[in-house]
Amino acid sequence: MTIHMFRDDAYVRDASAVVTGHTPEGGIVLDQSIFYPTGGGQPGDSGTLSWEGGALNIATAIKGDDESIILVPAEPRALPGVGTTVTQSLDWERRYAHMRVHTALHILSVALPFGVTGGSIGAGRGRLDFDMADAPEDRDELEAMLNAHVASDMRVSAEWITEAELDANPSMVKTLSVQPPRGAGEIRLVRIGEGDATIDLQPCGGTHVARTGEIGALRIGKIEKKGRMNRRVYLHLDG
Ligand SMILES: [Zn+2]
Repeated sequence: MTIHMFRDDAYVRDASAVVTGHTPEGGIVLDQSIFYPTGGGQPGDSGTLSWEGGALNIATAIKGDDESIILVPAEPRALPGVGTTVTQSLDWERRYAHMRVHTALHILSVALPFGVTGGSIGAGRGRLDFDMADAPEDRDELEAMLNAHVASDMRVSAEWITEAELDANPSMVKTLSVQPPRGAGEIRLVRIGEGDATIDLQPCGGTHVARTGEIGALRIGKIEKKGRMNRRVYLHLDG
C-alpha cells in the first residue's frame, strides 16, 4: 500500500519517498505519494521524480492493487531502483487548478440539488451530470449563487467516520449525494462550511482547496441535454 499524502494535506508540492516497487508496465510505486491517482472524475497528477543521479517526468498516476499508487513515467527511461530515496514534485499549477475546479463542482452540486450521475474535472473547467429533467431556469441566478458561495470564503475540511457511525446516523446519509464506497471500514467526508453553516457534506477522496475563496470567479458554460433525465452542466474558472 502507498500512504496517500494528499489526503492529509493537498498543498504539499514536494516530498521525499522511497521506491517500494516497479510494475510490469514500467510504473513506479512509492511508500508515500503526493501524486493523486486518476479517480472520481479527477485526473491523476503529473510532475517529476528526481534522485541522486537521475530524474524522470511523471505523466500521470493511477490506482494499483491494495491501495497502492502507480506513477506512470512520461518517457521510457531508467527507473530508480527499489529502495532508492526520491524527491517527488508536482506540476502544481495543473493540480491546483484541479483542486479549484473540484471544489467548485461540490458547490455546483449544492446549487443544483439533484442526483449526480457523473462528472469530470479539468484544469480550467469541469462538468457534472445531473439527474434532472429540465435545464435550470435561470442561469444568471445559478451563477450568482455559485459566486456567492465563493465570496463567503467558507472552510473546506475533511473528516473520517466509520461505516458503523454512518449506519447509526441515518440523518447524515440523507445529506450524502452518493452512497459511500463500502468495505474500506472508514469513509472520508468532505465538508464545506462549519457546524450549522455547513452547506455540503459528502464522501469524497479527491483534493480540494482549503477555502472556497481560492476558487475565484466562476462562470456557467454549456448546459447539454444528455437524455430525458440527464443535464450536463459545465463550469469554468473565470480567471
Ligand atoms: Zn471532492
